Amino acid sequence: MSKVCVVAAGGTGGHMFPAEALAREMAARGWRVVLATDHRGEQYAHAFPAEERLALDAEAAVLAEAATAVDGIAEAVNMVPLDHPRRLLLVHAHPDDETIGTGATMAHYAAEHALVTLVTCTLGEEGEVLVPELAHLAADRDGGLGQHRIGELAAACEALRVTDHRFLGGPGRWRDSGMMGTPPNDRPECFWQADLEEAVRELVSVMREVRPQVVVTYDSNGGYGHPDHVQAHRVTVAAFDAAGDPAYAPELGEVWQAAKLYWTAFPKSVLQAGIDALKASGHTNFFGADSADDLPFGVPDDEVTTEVDANAHLEAKTAAMRAHKTQIEVDGPFFALSNHVGQRAFGTEYFTLARGERGPATGEHGREDDLFAGLDCG
Ligand SMILES: [Zn+2]
Repeated sequence: MSKVCVVAAGGTGGHMFPAEALAREMAARGWRVVLATDHRGEQYAHAFPAEERLALDAEAAVLAEAATAVDGIAEAVNMVPLDHPRRLLLVHAHPDDETIGTGATMAHYAAEHALVTLVTCTLGEEGEVLVPELAHLAADRDGGLGQHRIGELAAACEALRVTDHRFLGGPGRWRDSGMMGTPPNDRPECFWQADLEEAVRELVSVMREVRPQVVVTYDSNGGYGHPDHVQAHRVTVAAFDAAGDPAYAPELGEVWQAAKLYWTAFPKSVLQAGIDALKASGHTNFFGADSADDLPFGVPDDEVTTEVDANAHLEAKTAAMRAHKTQIEVDGPFFALSNHVGQRAFGTEYFTLARGERGPATGEHGREDDLFAGLDCG
């Protein structure tokens, strides 16, 4: 008689990904795996190596029947712990922002067995399509870019080995608002026009489920003023506080106060070095700028608190950039930067600590070298 293992998991990514790893492990050991999940788990269930599925929404009798099918604990199984003591949540506005700003960091922590959860707020429907054969997907032509970018984001996450990625409120809940001052800003379904309270509730429920110690998003200018980036900042700051407030929406889950909140940052000195190196190499200048002061996204060096050296994951970041095929030109400024300035500007990513205690400083700039620095994550 074969041994039966019932893997029960709530139907959200944070539960289902460890459960899937467990199911694979048990199947590899010759157990018959039965997956029990709720209706939300259906979207993940296809990936399970389970022979049968049970719905947790079903009658208790069905579960009782499943329980009698289990042979009992006939074998103690030693396994690598599937929980993640360190948990990092990143909130980004559009597919590709995660890779450009934080891709190496995400790959670094995923490789170190931290749980890396990416929440993307829109599908990036207003993005400019840089690939001629896909130009028809643009918002001002046939449309369909958002759906297409779901696939690009999935491929990028795979390259970064990030398994938990979600869209705020579900895919397509909020639309890309386009650049500041353009007509898409006024569309009622765009993220810029989102009901903040609803968006905050959605993010609080993710925070209370995933329980991250560290949260990353943009500064109050959204890094460079894009309305969806500004909105991602507002929603994340509000959710960071609300998730830890026992009086806020107890129905969204157990209170969780993350310890640290960071903004992504691009130090002006690094930007300037990139501009200079590109100029010296005879390449067209970087976004038309001669000086880092002319660009909207440089941060004064002394505001940068944290520097994550993830050069070991440069290849993953580059692969993820290529996955965003409609958005990032292989011979465009980002790749030029990586080719000419190399790893320092590309595999090292920078952050500014906005909330929480700064961990020990290291290196010549006296910065943290780890987003979890100073935290005891058990
Ligand atoms: Zn963006």
